[in-house]
Amino acid sequence: MQEPETVTRILSFGAGVDSTAIIVYHLYVRSLDIDHVVFADAGAEFPETYDNVELIKTLCEDAGIPFHIVKKGGETILEWCLRLGIVPVMAGGAHVCSQKFKGDVIQAWAKLNKFENPVYLIGIEADEGHRLRRFSPPKESVSRYEYPLVEMGMKRAACEDLLKSYGFKVRKSSCMFCPFMSPAEIKETIADPNAKSLVQKVEKRFKNTSAEKHQAWIDAGMPLNKGDRAPVGMWRRNSWAEGQRLFVAKHAGRALSIEEWANLPNTSVQGAEQLCFQM
Ligand code: SF4
Repeated sequence: MQEPETVTRILSFGAGVDSTAIIVYHLYVRSLDIDHVVFADAGAEFPETYDNVELIKTLCEDAGIPFHIVKKGGETILEWCLRLGIVPVMAGGAHVCSQKFKGDVIQAWAKLNKFENPVYLIGIEADEGHRLRRFSPPKESVSRYEYPLVEMGMKRAACEDLLKSYGFKVRKSSCMFCPFMSPAEIKETIADPNAKSLVQKVEKRFKNTSAEKHQAWIDAGMPLNKGDRAPVGMWRRNSWAEGQRLFVAKHAGRALSIEEWANLPNTSVQGAEQLCFQM
């Protein structure tokens, strides 16, 4: 396909290892033709990640690259979870939260700025081919995605080596209460008293809002504050709409709201499990 004459090349900066490696490569090794860098702040990153955002923002601005911080209007991901009494991704869920608080926000920002033919540079490592499907634009989209690390064959170790060689220490970016954390990351999170208390606050609110769903969630995987996560097979698509519907499974043809769940006759942990796994 022929490249349009004017394109706007935007680095979607998540402030973790991948996208930091891209901007460090661009600044210190070879130009990747980056016109803008944008960080979508969901509002619940670890302090080290926000420090990295500030550092990269300064470096970009010194290099003449506009750096933007964008946020979803209305509420942060924490406020969203606490308002609805949910966790960001339920067993059976897809990454609705990252689309809602990051992807959609960046797209809306680009649209508002009327960028011509936006090309998004996405931080996916060369050995993460499975993530390409998640980070590819919808068919009808006018935007295009590029994966510089994949194109350069840079795997995780190469990204880390690059960052180390230029003196950068970067923590994996993630909401403090992200259910996609690995056991090692959760262990690190709960060793931090502030992060631990936030995780417990989210989970407690979820439990108080919907004890049955909370129990089913624990039975399906593990609670956030117990040092593990739900098994991989639990993360399925079609989970909820706008956060009010928590489970992928349908009852009488519909996913259930918290209230509907609570009002179901014979709602029990056993019933919850069955609903949870029923596809
Ligand atoms: S880090 Fe986790 S909780 Fe936060 S937006 Fe991404 S998937 Fe959702």
